Amino acid sequence: MEHITVIGAGTMGRGIAYTAAVSGFKVVVQDISKEAVQQAKIYVEEQLQKRMSRDVITAEEAAAARNHLTYTTALEEAVTHADLVIEAVLEHMELKTKLFKELDKLTAAHTILATNTSTMSPTEIAAQTNRPERTVAMHFFNPVPNMKLIEVIRGLETSIETVKQVVEVGERMNKECVQVEEFPGFAVSRMNCVIGNEAMNMVLEGVSTVEGIDKAMKLGLNHPMGPLELADLVGLDTRLRNMEYLYQSLGEKYRPSPLLVKYVKAGRLGRKTGQGFYHYE
Ligand code: NAD
Repeated sequence: MEHITVIGAGTMGRGIAYTAAVSGFKVVVQDISKEAVQQAKIYVEEQLQKRMSRDVITAEEAAAARNHLTYTTALEEAVTHADLVIEAVLEHMELKTKLFKELDKLTAAHTILATNTSTMSPTEIAAQTNRPERTVAMHFFNPVPNMKLIEVIRGLETSIETVKQVVEVGERMNKECVQVEEFPGFAVSRMNCVIGNEAMNMVLEGVSTVEGIDKAMKLGLNHPMGPLELADLVGLDTRLRNMEYLYQSLGEKYRPSPLLVKYVKAGRLGRKTGQGFYHYE
């Protein structure tokens, strides 16, 4: 495993690309949006500067990471040398299945195809390819450089060897991998989405303010972030797609909060737009 291609340079893709590059992998970052590619470059530079200023990495290590990274909008060129492709595009099953069909055609026979989906079925995604045994879910957490966990989810036909290889990649990135059975939302998203949704409904019901609910969860349950701050960090559009998928697949308990739906309609998507449950400068 030497070459990793990350498809989708948004919140997660850029974090995965940065982490892979500082871990010594050669990384290609691809997105259909030129602006997202540009933002990913800026993000990587900010991360390198931040860690250099704290003496976490040396100037030589930062230069090596920079040299390991290539950015493009061209899919075919991006995946030619990939040993592992990590997909981090929007949480839409149709988008992911179409992309995996394409990746199956464009990549070498040995290439492993991984999805960073938060909730969806790797089996359904793998079924679009002629290599279900080499298709898997690698679920990273936000912000990727700081979060230790990767949930690894086997689809129905994912081979043990594929799981072994992606776990090794995760360990080289200094992450801890937990294997989770395929079920909508896996372990973390399923629980976290319910907590966040309940917090939004509690705001609607007037149980407390946004700040009050977050503070109560931090001080009362020792959560490092409140559920509403966390939803803003994830992106409210992404969270709504997660909730919609869980609602369709697991039922009423997961119905998206009307407040979440309203905020997304208004374009209040959290940190990425400067306004969500909180206001960001
Ligand atoms: P995002 O909206 O920040 O970024 C998605 C990126 O995908 C955008 O830059 C978009 O231009 C790009 N894109 C769309 N279609 C594409 C295509 N066909 N080819 C290449 N690029 C394409 O989304 P995100 O929050 O980074 O989420 C990405 C995935 O990661 C989703 O499946 C999400 O559920 C999952 N995830 C998100 C989080 C989180 O906290 N945001 C955490 C874990 C997993």
